[in-house]
Amino acid sequence: MLSKSATDVRLRKALGANGQRFTEQRGAVFRYLAQTDVHPTAEEVFLAVRQRLPAISLGTVYKSLETLVGCGLAVKLTYGDHSARYDGRTDPHHHARCVSCEKVLDLPGELLTGEIDSLRETAGTFTVTGYRLELSGYCPECVPTKDLLVTA
Ligand SMILES: [Zn+2]
Ligand SMILES: [Zn+2]
Repeated sequence: MLSKSATDVRLRKALGANGQRFTEQRGAVFRYLAQTDVHPTAEEVFLAVRQRLPAISLGTVYKSLETLVGCGLAVKLTYGDHSARYDGRTDPHHHARCVSCEKVLDLPGELLTGEIDSLRETAGTFTVTGYRLELSGYCPECVPTKDLLVTA
């Protein structure tokens, strides 16, 4: 985990490179994202950051998150039916998502890049700009008993 000052230096650099100002709000949002691996929603970030900055609004948190994503400091995971989640980890990694509580976990494993390249070759006229792999299932707290899994 980066110290508070190292995190701020990284943030100021990236904001400056993108013509954005450092603000206390952006600093607080980034610091929170950098030290958590829960992939929070904007509302969850708001609830956490509000403890330090009571005057911050959900709208400001949302805009700060979008600024961080625009500067390459965070990744936005969008889901069709629910609000987006934000990831302070920007290195390539994969996720597992619980179909019950919707928790998103980082997977330690990696795909071989050769396998991704071979899939890319089958895309034909489709222009590939990226990919996303996510395992779905049950987290340890939500996993049903074996009987339920068999009948489901
Ligand atoms: Zn769960
Ligand atoms: Zn992640």
